[in-house]
Amino acid sequence: MAIDKRVLVTGGAGFLGSHLCERLLDRGQDVLCVDNFFTSSRRNVAHLLDNKRMELMRHDVTFPLYVEVDEIYNLACPASPVHYQFDPVQTTKTSVIGAINMLGLAKRLKIRILQASTSEVYGDPELHPQPESYWGHVNPVGLRSCYDEGKRCAETLFFDYRRQHKLPVKVVRIFNTYGPRMHPNDGRVVSNFIVQALRGDDITIYGDGAQSRSFCYVDDLVEAMLRMMDTPDDVTGPINIGNPNEFTIRELAEAVIELTGTKSRIISAPLPSDDPRQRQPDIGKARDVLGWEPLVQLREGLTKTIAYFDGLLSEGHAGLPARR
Ligand code: NAD
Ligand code: UDP
Repeated sequence: MAIDKRVLVTGGAGFLGSHLCERLLDRGQDVLCVDNFFTSSRRNVAHLLDNKRMELMRHDVTFPLYVEVDEIYNLACPASPVHYQFDPVQTTKTSVIGAINMLGLAKRLKIRILQASTSEVYGDPELHPQPESYWGHVNPVGLRSCYDEGKRCAETLFFDYRRQHKLPVKVVRIFNTYGPRMHPNDGRVVSNFIVQALRGDDITIYGDGAQSRSFCYVDDLVEAMLRMMDTPDDVTGPINIGNPNEFTIRELAEAVIELTGTKSRIISAPLPSDDPRQRQPDIGKARDVLGWEPLVQLREGLTKTIAYFDGLLSEGHAGLPARR
C-alpha cells in the first residue's frame, strides 16, 4: 500500500470523490481535493477539512493546473443525466479538455493517473453483460452524447498518452454506483426513489420499468479504484467496476418502498431518449487483476443510503423540499 503520497482528486467534493478523499486520508495519504462545485458543495467534504492532510482547492479542470502531487484520480465531470445535460458543451469540455490538462500534469510529473470512465462508453449495449472488449453502441448526436462521447474521447486520450509518452495510466469503467452523499436533486434513480419514498411522493418509473441496471455501493467502488491505482504500471485497464447483480427499475422501486415503509404509489413517466435498456458489468477482469468483487448487496446498501437521506430531510437540507 502506498503511503505518504500526495494525491490529487479532481471532482473530489462530489459523491464518489468525497468518499475517495476520505479513504485516502484514512490510509495516511495527503489529499489535494480540486473541484469547481458545479454539482457538489463543500458540505460533502466539510467533515474532512480539520484533517491537516486535507487541502481543498476551487478550480475548473478545463483550465491548466500547476501543482506538485504523486498520483492523480480524475473524477471531475457531472455524472447524472440531469446535470450533464444542463450544459452539454461544458460537459464535453470537462471530459476532454479536463483530461488533456490532467494528463499534461501527469506527464510533467511522470506520475500515475486514473480516469473515472463509465459504462456509458457502451451506450445502449447490444451485448449483455458488457465485457471490456465490447466497443459499444453509442449515439454520437443524442442527448447523452456529450457525456458518452466525452468520456470515450477521454479514454482515447489516456491510451494515446500511454502509447506516445509511456505514461502509467489506469482506466476504470464505473457502472451505476449509489450511496450516501449522492446529490438529492440529481435525478438519478436511486436518489430520486429514496427521496420520493421518504417524502411520501409518487415514485416515478420512467417507461415500463423493465429496463435494468446493476447497482454498486460506493464503498465497494472506492476499494476497487484504490486497488487499481496500486497495480503495476503495465496494468492500464480499461477495467469494469460494478456490481453484476442486475435489477429492473421496477424491482428497485419495490425494494425502496419496502425498506422505507412508505405509502408512496408507483407512477409511470415518459422514458428519456437513448435510455439504455439493460446494463450489467462483466467483472471477470476486476476479479482476476484486482482480486476484487463487490461485498455490499442492494438491500444493505439501500438501507445505509436511506438513513443518509432521512438525515438530510430531518435537517431540512436546502436542496430538498420540506417533508410532508
Ligand atoms: P458528482 O457529480 O457527484 O461529482 C462530480 C464532481 O466533479 C462534482 O464535485 C463537480 O462539482 C465536479 N466537477 C464537474 N465539472 C468540473 C470541472 N470542470 N472542474 C472541476 N470539478 C468539476 O458525480 P459522481 O457520481 O461522484 O461521479 C464522479 C465521477 O465518476 C465522474 O467522472 C463520473 O462520470 C464517474 N462515474 C460515476 C458513476 C456513478 O454511478 N456515480 C458511474 C460512472 C462514472
Ligand atoms: N429512472 C426512473 N425514474 C427516475 C429516475 C430514473 O425510472 O426517477 C430510470 C432511468 O430512465 C434509467 C434508470 O432509472 O432507465 C437509471 O437512471 P439513472 O439516471 O440513475 O442512470 P443511467 O440512466 O445513467 O444509468
